[in-house]
Amino acid sequence: MASVKKLEEVAELKRTRTEYEDDIEVLVGPERARFVVHMHIICKRSSFFESACSDRWMKERKPIELVDDKPDTFSAYLKLVYEGELRSSLPQNEYLELVRLYVLADRSRDLRAANAVIDGIIRYSDTTWSLPPKSAIRLAMNSTPPKSALQRLVRDYCVQEAGPQWIVDPEKPDDGEELPRSFLVAVAEEFMTRRRQANYGERVADTYSRRIKEMPRCHYHQHDDSCPPCKSAATAK
Ligand SMILES: [Zn+2]
Repeated sequence: MASVKKLEEVAELKRTRTEYEDDIEVLVGPERARFVVHMHIICKRSSFFESACSDRWMKERKPIELVDDKPDTFSAYLKLVYEGELRSSLPQNEYLELVRLYVLADRSRDLRAANAVIDGIIRYSDTTWSLPPKSAIRLAMNSTPPKSALQRLVRDYCVQEAGPQWIVDPEKPDDGEELPRSFLVAVAEEFMTRRRQANYGERVADTYSRRIKEMPRCHYHQHDDSCPPCKSAATAK
């Protein structure tokens, strides 16, 4: 069974660690795929898991349930937490997979993971010369808080890099999907803000045409005491 295989993968990841403290059980998705995770490691990364592992939970030993996430996404999250690597997947699904992973990391309040996914999206866009598809934008707009780092990033891909055909492509009308109203409003608002900046003396090229990959490294990151600003402030490459 898939869930047993994933359990083995997690166990393998754990064997690389010398500490064997308390484990927590996590049930993911409507199918409740079972994962066992090292409490010490995941609670250090995520304030969501830290509160879920509070005394009350641990006394009752209840599993933590993530009904809205997919087992594959949680598996990718664990790989990021344990090995610091973003899992690669099929190119046509990469943006959606990355957005799902961002949603999970953001909801878990794991800023390091969320920032790593942001960097992964920028890298993927740069290497494939592509922009996030509408399905990924819909997920980003519907599953993260307003003006989240991810929402700002997909908005800026539209404002800074996309041509008009990207919003309405006569060949592929919207991939059969519409962009959410909240996204179109955010794009219009950003254009107006930038027009005003340009009127006040910024170069029009800087205001509208800067490549996302050339933005300062922390521009789309979130930082706090648990996740200090990145040392390299040059670019997001
Ligand atoms: Zn940063």
